[in-house]
Amino acid sequence: MNKRENELLDHFGRPLRDLRISVMDRCNFRCPYCMPEEAPEPDLNFLESPNRLRFAEIIRLTSIFANLGVHKLRITGGEPLLRKNLYELVAGLSELPGINDVALTTNASLLERYAESLGQAGLGRVTVSLDSLDPKVFQLMTGHRGSVELVLAGIEAALAAGLTPIKINVVVQRGANDHTLLELLEYFRGTEIIVRLIEYMDVGNLNHWKPENTVSSVDLLELISNKWLLEPVEENYHGEVAQRWAYADGQGEIGLISSVSEPFCGSCTRARLSSDGVLYNCLFATQGLDLRSPMREGASDDELADMISEAWRIRRDRYSEVRNQASVARSNKVEMYYIGG
Ligand code: SAM
Ligand code: SF4
Ligand code: SF4
Repeated sequence: MNKRENELLDHFGRPLRDLRISVMDRCNFRCPYCMPEEAPEPDLNFLESPNRLRFAEIIRLTSIFANLGVHKLRITGGEPLLRKNLYELVAGLSELPGINDVALTTNASLLERYAESLGQAGLGRVTVSLDSLDPKVFQLMTGHRGSVELVLAGIEAALAAGLTPIKINVVVQRGANDHTLLELLEYFRGTEIIVRLIEYMDVGNLNHWKPENTVSSVDLLELISNKWLLEPVEENYHGEVAQRWAYADGQGEIGLISSVSEPFCGSCTRARLSSDGVLYNCLFATQGLDLRSPMREGASDDELADMISEAWRIRRDRYSEVRNQASVARSNKVEMYYIGG
């Protein structure tokens, strides 16, 4: 750790370690918990292409973040594979000094086509979102876009390209896909692929989240334990988001992400960069710091580093820990597909 990295702590003493980079706000799916298909397109407020950061701009900003202590990157969106020639960005990011982990989160509808070139460009691993293997439920959970077969083909291609360990993200929405979870877990049991069940969160406003639509990890654990004996596994590193559980019969492990029932803000070291270059210090933020304008107006790396450092030093975000306080209710949170999940 260098000196500067030691120095950059937020108000609660949390260092800046991870950067999630949204490269594309648009998506070819319409998951009900993120970008519901009922939402009229004008309400989605998609960016104009010139307003999205160019790859060179993303790489420049990321190198500044790396100097400030970031060493893990996740490329996300919207759907990141909709961004043309994404492998070029991956190549640039994976070569940056200080960066030792470059991952991608995708709905995998286009992964079969791009896995190999992304792997060759230096992508380390992928996380694939897949909420159900049941074709009807899958259609419901994607807003009637894509197909289970394409996603599974994408996962196969990622395995072949060595983009491992592969994780599967499953957002659990009560009454929507919770009845198909055991089938999904069964499918991936005995493989190297780690399924992570995520509590449905109140990100953004378009999804009209209600607490009763979230299934808590405690309930999920009970559901799964009734079928397979599970044993807790030590966290890989301090602040790991998922609680790890292994099948007692040695058939692999799963993760539970309990952002609603057991928030983990105390160890949150993540910043997010939207595709138009706004820095957000929390997934539930209502505003961020525009880095694109000063960058395009000629700010130096040192000036940009100072802006980022200042924004991080004053960071007091811990939304998930205080979401139940009435004073915290926010009606203008940024949307997940824009800020980058
Ligand atoms: N389109 C890509 C995908 O779906 O993998 C990347 C972006 S997506 C916003 C990133 C992750 O956020 C996905 O795993 C998605 O399931 C998750 N997500 C989106 N909205 C969510 C919500 N309201 N609660 C919990 N997870 C959510
Ligand atoms: Fe698209 Fe991902 Fe949001 Fe689903 S979760 S609508 S795939 S950005
Ligand atoms: Fe981090 Fe904000 Fe999520 Fe808390 S609510 S874990 S501060 S992103």
